[in-house]
Amino acid sequence: MMKSLPIFADYTLTSWIKIGLVILGIILLPMVFQDPFYLLMMQSLAYLSIAALGLDILVGWTGQISLGHMGFYAVGAYTTAILTTRMGISFWITLPLAMTLAGILGAIVALPCLRAKGHYLAVVTLAFGFVIEVTANRWMDLTNGPMGIFGINPPKIPFGDFMTPRQYFYLVAFSTLFAQLAANHLLTARYGRTFLALQQSEVAAETVGVNVYRYKVLAFVICSIYGGLAGVFFAHQVPPGYINSDTFVFSQSILFLASILMGGSRTLYGPLVGTVLLNSIPQIFASLHDYHLMIYGFIILGTVILLPRGIVGSLSNLPYLKRRKIKPVEEKPIDIQKLRFIRHEETNGQPIIETRALVKDFGGLRAIDRLSMRIEPGKIHALIGPNGSGKSTFVNVLTGVYKPSGGDIFYRGKKLSKIRPHEMARLGVTRTFQTVNLFQGLTVLDNVMVGFHLHFKAGFWHHLLRTRKAVQEEEIYRQRALDLLRFLGIQDKAYEEAQNLSYGHQRLVEIARALAVEPSLLLLDEPAAGVNPAEVHLLSKVIQDIRNMGITVLVIEHHMELVMQISDWITVLDFGSKIAEGKPISVQQDKKVIEAYLGDPEALKEVG
Ligand code: ADP
Ligand code: MG
Repeated sequence: MMKSLPIFADYTLTSWIKIGLVILGIILLPMVFQDPFYLLMMQSLAYLSIAALGLDILVGWTGQISLGHMGFYAVGAYTTAILTTRMGISFWITLPLAMTLAGILGAIVALPCLRAKGHYLAVVTLAFGFVIEVTANRWMDLTNGPMGIFGINPPKIPFGDFMTPRQYFYLVAFSTLFAQLAANHLLTARYGRTFLALQQSEVAAETVGVNVYRYKVLAFVICSIYGGLAGVFFAHQVPPGYINSDTFVFSQSILFLASILMGGSRTLYGPLVGTVLLNSIPQIFASLHDYHLMIYGFIILGTVILLPRGIVGSLSNLPYLKRRKIKPVEEKPIDIQKLRFIRHEETNGQPIIETRALVKDFGGLRAIDRLSMRIEPGKIHALIGPNGSGKSTFVNVLTGVYKPSGGDIFYRGKKLSKIRPHEMARLGVTRTFQTVNLFQGLTVLDNVMVGFHLHFKAGFWHHLLRTRKAVQEEEIYRQRALDLLRFLGIQDKAYEEAQNLSYGHQRLVEIARALAVEPSLLLLDEPAAGVNPAEVHLLSKVIQDIRNMGITVLVIEHHMELVMQISDWITVLDFGSKIAEGKPISVQQDKKVIEAYLGDPEALKEVG
């Protein structure tokens, strides 16, 4: 067996052969197409692909729209053009400088607006694009406007001469190859999973510890850096060696978006395929003069309508190309002792969570009314009460999804000030949702692996280069995720998309994902709702096993049999206030509780 390299660590012989063929192709291309026109065109297809690839990391993977990608492309191009022509700085220095500047500008644009939800980013990037467009066009001293900056030399080979068009093509094409591989590394492991997860559900991603805001900014910065890099390559292309403001217009941003859509968003190679097609079609039909733009438009329309997932997306969906070699998951009995990676901490007699006079108002409605409650470690604590009594609101406040309107929350005796969901997950408090909130489109296994988010140590650079550490860590957590699925009896569903599972199984996946956080307190909001009776039995065993692992459980449930059977302690809410508390037997006989449940003791058994 071949020993893996320190980087690109999971590449097999087949992967290297494929890369070898691509390299060979890149070497041969300028030999086949020697015409200067083709050389220039191939250079531009390569760097435009880098820009599109970067944009798809933002658009396809995190689901944010940018209408100003051209802006970063322009920043890259002007930075290097100005620095090399006016200050004589070497291309090899301006290249990283321009990328850095594009990244910093990306962060400046993203930081204020990614906190807001919705289409805010689209509008801000649109405005950013216009600012750059006007700057390029009007700020004559800086950019020389439509007349442009002349005399931009090709890069110099270290200790050698200026690059020839062919050599420059090699530089750009190999950079594109590297940009593609780096993106593949990021997107097919931890980072891509996290991006897709937060695109599907920000709240769910946060409750397993993802700092959604940071990840969105990160995606935007990567996107900007890719745009800047493409701009640098554009400025130095040989010939012509000049740039002017005509290139940096709004429609360029749209072309980048169109390339992604046409090639296939979120498909790794879609941006490349889309860029190549979209930018070579006008050349092919150029002889048709007046009609060529029309044909061009129809081709774009046609692909997007006929192939809504883009060319690559639709091709990879064809049955005979959809050969995913997945070994069935080994079915082995799982010993819960093996799941002991789950933390088991001493609390020095403190409750894990204590609330004092907690209040939550929605406008005029008081959903939680001066609720004081202690969640003791190592117990199954049930929270029951009629519909609308504030149970889910309580969970939402404890996990930072809702801000409390009053009162205090203590974590192991320490008062918490500002509570944010991903920070609660870091403290070991996580939850499932009353309405199933899985990452749709991700496999069951990936859903659970997102749950391990806080435990990954290999960071950005490790993943960008696919170091051994990153690969090993992925494998460790893949195995642990499979163990969790075995524990819940759904290991055979590991590679199915989460939304294709039955409701009951989806609830189990959510529990597995929450367990992956390795919580000390797990909040389950109606885990038995919509689950068939046979599965309820399984669920009650699962909840008890979880407690036996040392995890404290707060369970909200209407299924009274389940509650009475498994709970160590019960708190009853009505209209947001605590009306009773105690062991199952005493709560069951409590007068106020019986009254709250329609005044009918039988209702306690059925409705709960
Ligand atoms: P339970 O989970 O016990 O059925 P909830 O906590 O969901 O009850 O709801 C408690 C009360 O708060 C209900 O009257 C509900 O309508 C209200 N409520 C819950 N969430 C919101 C919200 N996001 N906005 C406004 N009112 C809400
Ligand atoms: Mg509820």
